[in-house]
Amino acid sequence: MALHIVSEANRCLQCKKPLCQQGCPVHTPIPQMIALFKEKRMMEAGKALFANNPMSLVCAIVCDHEAQCTGHCVLNHKGQPVHFYEIEEFVSDAYLDRMTADRKPWNGKTAAVIGSGPAGMTVAFILAWNGYGVTIFEEKDRIGGMLQYGIPDFRLPKSILDRYKQRLLDIGVRIRPHVVMGGDLMIDNLFRDGYSAVFVGTGVWRPTTLGIEGETLANVHFGISYLARPISYTIGETVAVIGMGNVAMDVARTAFRHGARRVMMFQRGNKSPASEHERQYAQLDGAEFFFGKSIQRITPKGPVFRNSVLNEQGRPVGVEGEEELVPADTVIIAINQGPKDKLVNTTHGLEATERGLLKVDENNMTTRAGVFAAGDVVHGSLTVVHAVEDAKRAAAGMMRYMENG
Ligand SMILES: Cc1cc2nc3c(=O)[nH]c(=O)nc-3n(C[C@H](O)[C@H](O)[C@H](O)COP(=O)(O)OP(=O)(O)OC[C@H]3O[C@@H](n4cnc5c(N)ncnc54)[C@H](O)[C@@H]3O)c2cc1C
Ligand code: SF4
Repeated sequence: MALHIVSEANRCLQCKKPLCQQGCPVHTPIPQMIALFKEKRMMEAGKALFANNPMSLVCAIVCDHEAQCTGHCVLNHKGQPVHFYEIEEFVSDAYLDRMTADRKPWNGKTAAVIGSGPAGMTVAFILAWNGYGVTIFEEKDRIGGMLQYGIPDFRLPKSILDRYKQRLLDIGVRIRPHVVMGGDLMIDNLFRDGYSAVFVGTGVWRPTTLGIEGETLANVHFGISYLARPISYTIGETVAVIGMGNVAMDVARTAFRHGARRVMMFQRGNKSPASEHERQYAQLDGAEFFFGKSIQRITPKGPVFRNSVLNEQGRPVGVEGEEELVPADTVIIAINQGPKDKLVNTTHGLEATERGLLKVDENNMTTRAGVFAAGDVVHGSLTVVHAVEDAKRAAAGMMRYMENG
């Protein structure tokens, strides 16, 4: 690995206008990082990576590199882009355990962070480094959000999140697991108890349903619930996955690792919204793709489809032909997720869009003064690096708000 990344670093042209950096949603200073790496100034490189993106190690592993840094490298013209993310993974992995607990002295103000996904962790790191007290309130027992309970372990080892947790504790962040904000406690309770600002990074955890007959049957499950704890499910040998996005690909690959012998994936249109990379891995694992199939209902013996009528763009506009039962032991629905509405329903002044996503201004402040939000709960299901980028803006907004408050 080391030899490989050294040769990757040596191929970098140190462009004056680095397209790779422009292609990265958090604008990682890639040429500078590669220069520090080549000079073996690893800890400086790691510190700069984390200062720009506290989720650097996670991003290096799970970002869609082909669409972002690697895909924008000028050497793509020659078909040989620099794979910076491999260097980033190496540097970040080394730095995470040796990170110094640098933080400014406590400035007397404490913020509450609701949700410990990448958005919440990013805000917690930035506020703590800048001298703010931080308490994270997390509904689950472990931190990480979808990194912990969505992305499977074979793609992102969970031990990374334990290391992140330790670094948060090292800089004085307090974590309260098993607290449902908007259920056990309310946002108003936080202001009552002296928190100067609140961050909401609660993501999207409500599976989108199909709204068809059979969805409550015993052989039907939701993809994100399945991924949270696959060993709780008995799925049999033949699995039908409804949907072909990135989450559906993880469902299919996880099913193969938990007893499935055949996994079929179904999409209404003629394209899969998943990244090329994820599609290829699912196919390599053995997933079979079926396009132009509109699900009609689900039976105890499997899903029933009709063929989709597609428009010129390949989108479904109707159905045709006879119904077809596809025999399967289990049907897993993985079409999308939306936010749960606990916080909106219990917080005075907090407004959401029709989809239930929180409305924010240019500083990521919600319609309730002092309450900020970022990540999937604002934009719907996106990516880790987009959650980080958004959370950085929210953290900056919170610090301005608390300084003036
Ligand atoms: C299966 C799957 C695979 C994915 N693969 C990738 C990938 O390869 N690359 C990529 O970049 N992105 C991927 N994503 C998307 C990425 O994980 C999300 O975009 C990202 O995690 C969003 O971060 P977040 O902090 O906004 O929310 P989340 O990660 O969803 O975290 C929200 C946190 O808030 C907590 N919470 C919710 N409600 C409450 C409450 N009321 N009180 C207290 N706590 C609460 C939750 O328990 C959770 O810990 C994937 C998502 C899934 C589901
Ligand atoms: S954060 Fe993601 S997109 Fe940006 S350089 Fe790192 S791996 Fe590439």
